[in-house]
Amino acid sequence: MSRTILHVDLDAFFVSVELLDQPELRGKPVAVGGRIDQRGVISSASYEARKFGVRSALPTRTAFQVCPDLILLPARHDLYAQHSHHVMALLHEITPQIEQLSIDEAFLDITGTELRFGSAEQLAHYLHDRIRDELGLPCSIGVARNKLVAKIATEKAKPNNICLVAAGEEAAFLAPLPVRALWGVGPKTAEILKALGIETIGQIAQARSDVLASRVRTAAGWLGKRGADELIQRAQGLDESPVESERVTKQISQETTFVKDVREVTYVRATLLELSEGVGRHLREADLSARTIAIKLRYSDFTTFTRQTTLPQPTDIDQEIFATAWTLFEANWNKRAIRLIGVAGRQLSPAARQLDLFDSTDDRVERLTRTVDEIRHKYGTESLKRGSTLRK
Ligand SMILES: [Mg+2]
Repeated sequence: MSRTILHVDLDAFFVSVELLDQPELRGKPVAVGGRIDQRGVISSASYEARKFGVRSALPTRTAFQVCPDLILLPARHDLYAQHSHHVMALLHEITPQIEQLSIDEAFLDITGTELRFGSAEQLAHYLHDRIRDELGLPCSIGVARNKLVAKIATEKAKPNNICLVAAGEEAAFLAPLPVRALWGVGPKTAEILKALGIETIGQIAQARSDVLASRVRTAAGWLGKRGADELIQRAQGLDESPVESERVTKQISQETTFVKDVREVTYVRATLLELSEGVGRHLREADLSARTIAIKLRYSDFTTFTRQTTLPQPTDIDQEIFATAWTLFEANWNKRAIRLIGVAGRQLSPAARQLDLFDSTDDRVERLTRTVDEIRHKYGTESLKRGSTLRK
């Protein structure tokens, strides 16, 4: 059956929220990010700042080098979460068939909404107007027959616009775009494809499956027959993946860049505990449990890797998250100085808490964790810390 998928993505979301509070900064190069003296990175940049090359993940130091007049604001994540809730609530008025990809991005399966909202184009304009007029935020919207093409259409629409790809036009729409625009094509794969003379998505669509299968290597190994066939299908604009309204968030993570590279193990341990507590708190606030716990390490030379492990049962308990993260760290750290460290909970599911007497989780631990959350909520994060976090 033919579907219609709408993808919506807020433009420069964190900055746009800040501009609601400080309208005098409109039209200026503004960014939200960490401070230079804390070796921060940019998390969101206004389009005025992007003209200078300021973009997310760029070290703040570099951002000021390319844009000396940059106005840097500290992140206020609670505020962004509130605005995100408003946006998602508005989207839920259209359909419950929503897959939220991140704080400011979602797919909607709008198949069958014509009677209430008119054509897909009319609905896209209606949403765009409401998000601007009621929430004061700019967004971009892509509409297509599937998720793959809708998301790429949004990129094409940015900033503050709408892009519709008519049914049957998917391959033609993708053909001139660079291979990197396609899901699953990272910088390394793009390099290999370029060596094979393939630079556009259209060229992938025309490529021979057996050549791609044996010549293209990805992070996971050789592409292989199945990988090659899938890549060619995506390049032709084919994608059957459903909008998964259950999966609200893919992961909940916290990371920190050290002010100075660190190799002192007690310090790293205290930081991992603090990050684990942050992940646990966010999981509980979202009523989610994580089946997989991951750590991320970046060494002083910027080499970065993640390691993860899957638990027998999903958890939202700080101690379990920390114990898992610490085990992963001990097993994988090669004693080099660390620049950045992070903890993530993945494979999220709604927290199904049951009173199972045989459950390995101690009920008292859970109650203590909740009390701690309540106190922190009332008095701020700094008010209560475990002994070992304080030792820092
Ligand atoms: Mg966005």
